[in-house]
Amino acid sequence: MSRVHNFSAGPAVLPLSVVEQIQAALPDFQGCGLGLMEISHRSAAFDGVHRMAETRLRRILSVPDDYKVLFLQGGASLQFHMVPLNLLTPGESADFIVTGIWTKKALVEARRSHAGQAIWSGEEGNYRRIPETVTPSGNATYLHYTTNNTIYGTQFKATPEAGALPLVADMSSDICSRPVDIARHAVVFAGAQKNLGPSGVTAVILSPWALEKAAGDLNPMLDYRLQVEKRGLFNTPNTLGIFALERVLAWVEDQGGLTATTEQNLSKANALYTQIDRTGFWTGHAAEGCRSDMNVAFRSPSADLDAAFVAQANAAGLMGLKGHRSVGGLRASIYNACPPGSVDALVSFMADFEAKNG
Ligand SMILES: *Cc1c(COP(=O)(O)O)cnc(C)c1O
Repeated sequence: MSRVHNFSAGPAVLPLSVVEQIQAALPDFQGCGLGLMEISHRSAAFDGVHRMAETRLRRILSVPDDYKVLFLQGGASLQFHMVPLNLLTPGESADFIVTGIWTKKALVEARRSHAGQAIWSGEEGNYRRIPETVTPSGNATYLHYTTNNTIYGTQFKATPEAGALPLVADMSSDICSRPVDIARHAVVFAGAQKNLGPSGVTAVILSPWALEKAAGDLNPMLDYRLQVEKRGLFNTPNTLGIFALERVLAWVEDQGGLTATTEQNLSKANALYTQIDRTGFWTGHAAEGCRSDMNVAFRSPSADLDAAFVAQANAAGLMGLKGHRSVGGLRASIYNACPPGSVDALVSFMADFEAKNG
């Protein structure tokens, strides 16, 4: 077996040990004679997995006891719709810090059902920056922001200050990569396929305030209150995905939890940014102080060299380095499960490439 160095933005690399545990569970899950994908979502065996996934996520992120945790489907994109649907009543609106297209898409969905406004936008500078401070509009019910901007490689280094305004955070691309104060948030959601497991599962964390605002009377699939009542089992959940997510969280805990994860993520990001800054050959996309520890967006001196870099990197077993089409250039996604050895390999490949082309 030969696994290459995987820098894909998502679905992204998983710990090999987790992939192997999934493989082992497929024909015969926990010795019950039935395969992981072939057991009831209401069986005791799966229930144990489901509860443990929740327990681990609560433990890793220090989720307050009175918050609820769900594993839903539909990705972060469905949360763009569900959040305003549940949290806004007619006449109410939400504020958005538009640091990239994911936030912009969320704003479109808030406007579809209710109303929303951008209180800050980085669009003009092609989303190189994260604002240092923001001023809420004064008439919003909550403030939506994206902790890490997967495409542009920018990241909030602290939770935005917005007074008493409840916060909604899209943490799809940096959940469980560093500590965050969940108690300051009303809703946190994350599609699993970057930092938590495979696609098809979305972690949703809801405060008591959010649940109170969710007045019901919605399609059951879209209703936070009903989903919480049914513990996410209103319909058949993604059992395979929840198993994989639980194993990824077990791996995070085995590594030493968020303390160890944060340290390793900082060290990986630092190695790459140091290489980018070493000479004038590479240019990082994100502004100083806004750089993401999860997605490193950069470019060589020309689009032709970028293309040559991607082709030669692929040939050398370094995959997924092409930048998003809206930014161009190059991007290395180095989530929790990206081994430090992959980053080391990329750093030396960059040094070689620069020596040949600089
Ligand atoms: C990938 C991504 C999304 C989209 O997630 P889906 O699960 O595909 O809907 C949303 N927000 C952020 C920050 C992302 O990185």
